[in-house]
Amino acid sequence: MELKSKIALVTGSGSGIGKAIALAFAGEGADVAINGSSHPDRAEATAAEIRAMGRRSMAIKADVSSEEEVNQMVARVIREWGGIDILVNNSGIGYIRMVEDMTAAEWHHVIGVNLDGVFYTSKAVIGTMKSRGGGRIINISSISAKRVSMHACAGYTSSKAAVLAFTRHLAFEVGPYKITVNAICPGFVMTAKMFDSPEQIKIIKNKMPLKDMASSEDIADAAVFLASDKARMITGTTLDVDAGQSIAYQDWETYARNRKEALAKGTGAH
Ligand code: NAD
Repeated sequence: MELKSKIALVTGSGSGIGKAIALAFAGEGADVAINGSSHPDRAEATAAEIRAMGRRSMAIKADVSSEEEVNQMVARVIREWGGIDILVNNSGIGYIRMVEDMTAAEWHHVIGVNLDGVFYTSKAVIGTMKSRGGGRIINISSISAKRVSMHACAGYTSSKAAVLAFTRHLAFEVGPYKITVNAICPGFVMTAKMFDSPEQIKIIKNKMPLKDMASSEDIADAAVFLASDKARMITGTTLDVDAGQSIAYQDWETYARNRKEALAKGTGAH
């Protein structure tokens, strides 16, 4: 058990990657507070699954883009369980828009959840982590932080890039208190909301260096590692969990064939 008796708060954990992280933490012995904003039923269902595993869990409805609601959520976990050891900032949203079509309200909504939310929750847990002698903050960014994304918008990529800068900066500030701050950058993740056709999945997997796509559980495995004592010397960094997508997203067969043909013909020097 990597996280025995730890207390974790995972935002946006009623679905997708956040839910997988919450369940993985519970499987490693942590008590996990589940957060969601618009679907309290989903958050409650995740919490019930965790309680069925023999760990404590509570579902808390809070909009992470509201400092007041975040403070109330964090205060409740501390009041009821005594503190927080691990925070995962997983909540995230996006719009599929060109900049010229995006409204200011949509822009601010994305920045509010994906960036302001990370600030509010992180700020709110520093005190309890300091008093407990350390802690872990794990921010779910995206490889979209580093490149143009076909599936997102400029607000999303900007917010996720800013999260990486925030991760580095906060890691420096809270290092002396043994609080580590790291980010995970998923590439395409096999979540139900992302892909609905097997053909689309096949095309995407074929362009991945590992010829596969990460699942929510793969992201959760990375989160467990970063939350564990094994990662105690790792801070301010980013772990890409993306089947190699960030190094190349290309058709490997065409790439290899071109080179083999050039070698056979004695061409290809340039
Ligand atoms: P998801 O929609 O299942 O999860 C997003 C969660 O955020 C939901 O539970 C939702 O309730 C919550 N949320 C939205 N607005 C909120 C708010 N105002 N306050 C609190 N919670 C709020 O999608 P997912 O794919 O599991 O995404 C999880 C994280 O992973 C996101 O940060 C996303 O940007 C990131 N990510 C996902 C992928 C992917 O391919 N699925 C790739 C890279 C990064």
